[in-house]
Amino acid sequence: MPKGVYQRKNGYKHSEETKKKISKKMKGKKPYEMTDEIRKKMSIARIGKFGGENSFSWKGGAIYYRIKQAKIRDDYTCQICGLRDPEIMEVDHVKPKSLFPELANDLNNMVVLCPNCHKRKTNRERKMKLYSPKKGREQLEQYLNELIK
Ligand SMILES: [Zn+2]
Repeated sequence: MPKGVYQRKNGYKHSEETKKKISKKMKGKKPYEMTDEIRKKMSIARIGKFGGENSFSWKGGAIYYRIKQAKIRDDYTCQICGLRDPEIMEVDHVKPKSLFPELANDLNNMVVLCPNCHKRKTNRERKMKLYSPKKGREQLEQYLNELIK
């Protein structure tokens, strides 16, 4: 920084001006203005994501309805070990959504499992890399036929 900048007679005045400039700048970024802008953006994003019949929430709602149907159909009973407990039962997609997206909302592709069996099944499938498209659908179907009789 060059010498003498802050030793000028009008240095004080100058710095006051600068302060004003800075405070003006800060006023331009009033918090409530930012929030309003963000709020607007968020509401637009929300409409895009959650509004309308084809929205995420609608699909989600349909899936949750199917999950409830599956639980009632299987009477809250684990289809692998036979444990019955309505409070903890989970619904598994027999054929994973990643490989069979068309079956994601299909009641016939849903099975009630207890958390233990569900975890075991998922872990085993991951270990066998059944989710990788390379393995193909046939191998997965064969495995699942053996698992759930
Ligand atoms: Zn079980």
